[in-house]
Amino acid sequence: MSVKDLQRRDLARIWHPCSQMKDYEAHPPFVVDRGEGVWLYDVEGRRCLDAVSSWWVNLFGHNNDRLNGALRRQAEKLAHCIFSDFSHGPAIELAERIVTLAPPGLERVFFADNGSAAVEVALKMSFQYHRLRGDAGRKTFLSFSDGYHGETLGALAVGGLGLYGAVFSPLMMETLKVPSPDCFRCPYGRKREACDVPCFEAMERCLAERGREICAVIVEPLLQGAAGMKVYPPAYLAKLRRACDEAGAHLIADEIAVGMGRSGTFFACEQAAVTPDFLLVSKGITGGYLPLSLVVTTEEVYRAFYGDYNEGRAFLHSHSYTGNALACAVACETLNLFDEGILEVNRVRGAFIEEAVRSRFEGHRHVGEIRRLGMVTAVELVEGPGGKAFDRSCRVGHSVYRRALERGVLLRPLGDVLYFMPPYVISDEEVLFMAGRAGEALEATL
Ligand code: PMP
Repeated sequence: MSVKDLQRRDLARIWHPCSQMKDYEAHPPFVVDRGEGVWLYDVEGRRCLDAVSSWWVNLFGHNNDRLNGALRRQAEKLAHCIFSDFSHGPAIELAERIVTLAPPGLERVFFADNGSAAVEVALKMSFQYHRLRGDAGRKTFLSFSDGYHGETLGALAVGGLGLYGAVFSPLMMETLKVPSPDCFRCPYGRKREACDVPCFEAMERCLAERGREICAVIVEPLLQGAAGMKVYPPAYLAKLRRACDEAGAHLIADEIAVGMGRSGTFFACEQAAVTPDFLLVSKGITGGYLPLSLVVTTEEVYRAFYGDYNEGRAFLHSHSYTGNALACAVACETLNLFDEGILEVNRVRGAFIEEAVRSRFEGHRHVGEIRRLGMVTAVELVEGPGGKAFDRSCRVGHSVYRRALERGVLLRPLGDVLYFMPPYVISDEEVLFMAGRAGEALEATL
């Protein structure tokens, strides 16, 4: 079967996510036949470097021997079983290990099967917790006006990106929003590296005025992914933890994208020495192999739901694939791969990626900022000085993406923010290829 035949069959039947399908007529999909390390190959041997870790999920490369082995071994024993009244070894091991890696005080693990589902679980748990404690006045959530937490209706309601949510707003619960830290276009004239976060003032005011109505504040710690890989200082998170405590509101740390080492530490919250009330983990937890998510919370939250059955305190949330055994086994093996000093290696690798990107992009008249957090380096393209953004309808980032793909690099920018978030196994040579070809794509576009 040729690539053309596969593309024709795809277009005849499949409706792809996050896509205007008309675009596919000019640019049919890259139909992947196999993966190897950072590379994706089609049936005719054409390849591209997966610089976005396939939507930020892949950590240790495609077709990883160790993860393949764990998956194979588990498949020969048990693929999946009901997770209510039943349990299994891989889930037990994973829960124990994630608790040892999470910030101190997080001790209970609830399973779901994707990031948005974990967000829904945390929102519902927080809401029900306050009710169980007799605090029925707390009915809303507070989040950033450009936050992203997934695309189910609850997750969209605490997100702020109109691109995904605006059309559905009549269906969504009302929530409170405050502007997020904007270090690139800082209205206070501060520098990210030495900042006492005066921008916290909006959050502080909202919590002081409306705190008694708020179940929880939900944020993406240190890195707002879908908003354009916006990086903000740990001091903001530390202040947020204190302000949530004063307001009696929970703090939900959505580490779905930034957890599992992407931020440079295993969890981003570590950099602010903060323990949230709910820590959300997904994406990289299975090394990019299978859908799985975890909501890690405190004994205090768990205890609020505990009681005799007829008291009706239980948390009645379930998905058919909760605690999938294959996913849990692969997740345990993913954690084993971390035991091999990967965070230390990544410190050097992350800096090397930034350097390679800087050497290609710095000084270009349309590069507004190059920023990095751990294993994520982003390049924000601007129309001109002062951070003036391009008109979105120009789809500049999209043009760079198309040209980079022709040159063998999968970028898929967020608007006009190009970012490099490859699997941790990328070699120096591959980093130079990735940055070099992306640089050529920018030159060819602008
Ligand atoms: N939260 C964050 C911070 C995310 O980046 C994402 C996915 N990009 C989600 C939640 C939603 O996860 P999923 O796509 O698995 O539903």
